[in-house]
Amino acid sequence: MSLGVYIQVPFCQTKCTYCNFHTGVVSRDRYGSYADAVCREITSFAEGERGAEAAAGAVDTVYFGGGTPSLLDPRDLAKIIETLRSHCAMNEPAAEATLEADPETITEEKAIAWLAAGFNRISLGAQSFDDHELKSAGRMHRRADTFQAVETLRRAGFGNISVDLIAGLPHQSRESWEGSLSELFALRPEHVSIYMLEIDEGSRLGKESLAGGSRYSAGAIPSDDAMAEFYESACARLAAQGYEHYEISNWALPGRRSRHNLKYWRREPYIGFGAGAHSFDGHTRWANVHDSARYVACMEQGSSPREQVEGVTAGQALDEEFFLGLRQLEGIDWARIERDYDGELPGRVGELRNRIAALESQGLIELDGPRLRLSPARLPVSNEVLVELLG
Ligand code: SF4
Repeated sequence: MSLGVYIQVPFCQTKCTYCNFHTGVVSRDRYGSYADAVCREITSFAEGERGAEAAAGAVDTVYFGGGTPSLLDPRDLAKIIETLRSHCAMNEPAAEATLEADPETITEEKAIAWLAAGFNRISLGAQSFDDHELKSAGRMHRRADTFQAVETLRRAGFGNISVDLIAGLPHQSRESWEGSLSELFALRPEHVSIYMLEIDEGSRLGKESLAGGSRYSAGAIPSDDAMAEFYESACARLAAQGYEHYEISNWALPGRRSRHNLKYWRREPYIGFGAGAHSFDGHTRWANVHDSARYVACMEQGSSPREQVEGVTAGQALDEEFFLGLRQLEGIDWARIERDYDGELPGRVGELRNRIAALESQGLIELDGPRLRLSPARLPVSNEVLVELLG
């Protein structure tokens, strides 16, 4: 069994207006004790029952996400990787080890230290190449920082860089979006993620927008139709540049798909460490406390940081097969799913058969032999299709 490891670093320099993640702006003095707490959690996991199972398989992907993990001292990041190496069977050098980084946090010294620590992939939160959009969204970096960051990473020796963009930022226009895509192609990253802006009342921008206000440029959010148009244009232009569209929000040059993220969509096991980190061992999902101070206190006192532990029922597993698996453009093996679940949930599987037939006749999904996938033209409205399918 191979295993993915996720390390959550819930700290940022400032809070972006659209962000609804459990991340905080805290004093840098707290970064070191947080990294120590993560090392403690890895050690206690490895010494426990599940750790023994994990150690029996090889860790083949490691992903440091956040937040802004690149804010941590590279020595702390190296210490966490070293703790993993000493407690789990790491399948190096084949393992994919990703660090999420914000462009303005990258220096030559850090890039060299990250490589030396074992990172071989950087996921860069560019979000846009338009300075007006970046400023309105509360981002710290500007277009020039992203170009500088990629140059620094390439010079240090990183051959696998992913760049994130957001479709739907306030003030984004068709022209500025096309401009951001052109700048992206000039950098030629190995991997690209494009997320549609979510209006979530957990963010300052979302609250303002839902209340009909204009702070944070809430009045300048592009319409849903414009966002869908941006996404469709990105699909066409990325394909023309040789990027394979393999997941609703992700594209890669051949051989450069995110092996770690594929585990989420394929329901493969992964263990998360850190405040708010989620885990899945194939049967049970659990999450750690979100508050980073509480998390550090738990680890210092030797108590468990887990606050939600939930066994996955057959019905939930079946739903996950669809809403996670169908995010992949290659779709899911419906014949295998029918076989796996028909014995335990015959009524539910029968209902799904009927819904699949109905959605196929409406052109919303495609059935090609055993494989079921969303129709490419319906990707921008994938959530609606999934609701129709799962009820
Ligand atoms: S950098 Fe990312 S995690 Fe941090 S506030 Fe901005 S969007 Fe949220």
